[in-house]
Amino acid sequence: MTEAPLKLFNSLTRQLEPFVPVHDGEARVYTCGPTVYNYPHIGNMRAYVFADVLGRTLSWKGYKLTHVINITDVGHLTDDADAGEDKMEKMAAEKAQSIWDIARHYTEAYWADVKALNIREPATWSIATDYIGDMLEFAKGIADKHCYELDSGLYFDVSSVADYGRLARAQTDDGESRIGDVEGKRNAADFAIWRKTPAGEKRQMEWDSPWGKGAPGWHLECSVMGEKLLGFPFDIHTGGIDHREIHHPNEIAQNQAFCGCGSLDVASHSGAKIWMHNNFLVERSGKMSKSSGEFLRLQLMIDKGYHPLAYRMMCLQAHYRSELEFSWEGLEAALVRLKRMVMGVERLRSKFSQLHEFPPLAGSEASFFLDEFDAAISDDLNSPEALTIFDRVLATPAIPDEYRWPLLLHMDEVLGLNIRWLDRLHLRLRPLDAQLRTNEVEDKVFERVKARAAKDFAYSDAIRDELSAKGVEVMDGDPLGWDWKLSV
Ligand code: AMP
Ligand code: ZN
Repeated sequence: MTEAPLKLFNSLTRQLEPFVPVHDGEARVYTCGPTVYNYPHIGNMRAYVFADVLGRTLSWKGYKLTHVINITDVGHLTDDADAGEDKMEKMAAEKAQSIWDIARHYTEAYWADVKALNIREPATWSIATDYIGDMLEFAKGIADKHCYELDSGLYFDVSSVADYGRLARAQTDDGESRIGDVEGKRNAADFAIWRKTPAGEKRQMEWDSPWGKGAPGWHLECSVMGEKLLGFPFDIHTGGIDHREIHHPNEIAQNQAFCGCGSLDVASHSGAKIWMHNNFLVERSGKMSKSSGEFLRLQLMIDKGYHPLAYRMMCLQAHYRSELEFSWEGLEAALVRLKRMVMGVERLRSKFSQLHEFPPLAGSEASFFLDEFDAAISDDLNSPEALTIFDRVLATPAIPDEYRWPLLLHMDEVLGLNIRWLDRLHLRLRPLDAQLRTNEVEDKVFERVKARAAKDFAYSDAIRDELSAKGVEVMDGDPLGWDWKLSV
């Protein structure tokens, strides 16, 4: 286990807290996964890069990690607070396909993004519809004391548990606008545990229950899968910051009801000891929302020729609790930084390609950098700082190569930028379509000449790739003196 004490920001207490595992030497983490009615956008993927860095950090620091990410294939309505239609049913109707086909298609698309971003597979991908029986048992267990039945379903009475809404810093009577959604609700924030299929209707996804045919409310699944797979209390629950407002307070209320737990002054009464939330990736034009119809997918970046790990780099360059604004310029800068890194490690990679045993880092002069890296990442996952330490290890001549290479590889276990395998050629811009005007080409070529003169080869390479992506081939050392040509 590494030395620096791990501190994480707990949204429940709004404080940095030392990580003290529930089970010695273990870390059990639950991450709210995607609702698979559509492709994930790159904002969603920021949530999983964050959870991945958390998981990698826990493993790196020596904890035995059990990570669960769920797949929501039932129950999530178009409005998080029980209003609107079921997202899956709506998409299935629009596409005239079965919900199961929709779920499979978008789950696979999500997994492809996970892989492209070098996000490690969790121990379990838990699929909500596999746990309907467990959800019914859980609901039956809390129904008498905490729920009431209306025509439309079984509702959770949020006044039946202590400190409802503490995570959101909200009052029970917040959200007046919500109360009108369902006739007969006792409190504005009460939410459905079970949604009955309206009389005369047939849903594609419905199950029998003591409250009639229907489907579970969205929040129920995460309580149930968390409890089943990790046990209450587990260590850490993660999600995007929007979940701090409705989904997670409701999950917490269900967990308190299930455990018979009182005040949230004891954090573990919430079902998890630490609740962590990544801030949003935003875009000025507002295209980051799936409901807006048009949104940025990782595949669009790939089609424009960007390696997906450039996006991972972009995420790492910001602290997970800061908002991150997406721009193509920002992505370009992240790509150049990644390329610089890869160029820096290429030499070491080939030098040590046959060697698998290195001198121990502990006790060596290189261990200073390891401690610095450990301190940065243990400080609430300060990945921007960790990246600068990586850069320093690359750039400090005094570090002998036989320490430098294992040191970098060790750090990359947390960063996940795949430096052992990533090749400069993989980072070439390769868009599906490309074009450029002549004066733009001339300007770029001139900029590249300057970059080469200044020995900034990462930048000159980036320009060459940008040109090549736009169908222009740079011709270094061409005997006829042509600087560039349009590639056919
Ligand atoms: P969903 O598929 O809508 O349930 O969202 C999947 C995950 O992405 C959740 O943890 C959300 O909180 C998170 N999320 C949604 N939008 C963004 C965004 N723009 N930036 C970062 N995370 C987001
Ligand atoms: Zn969830």
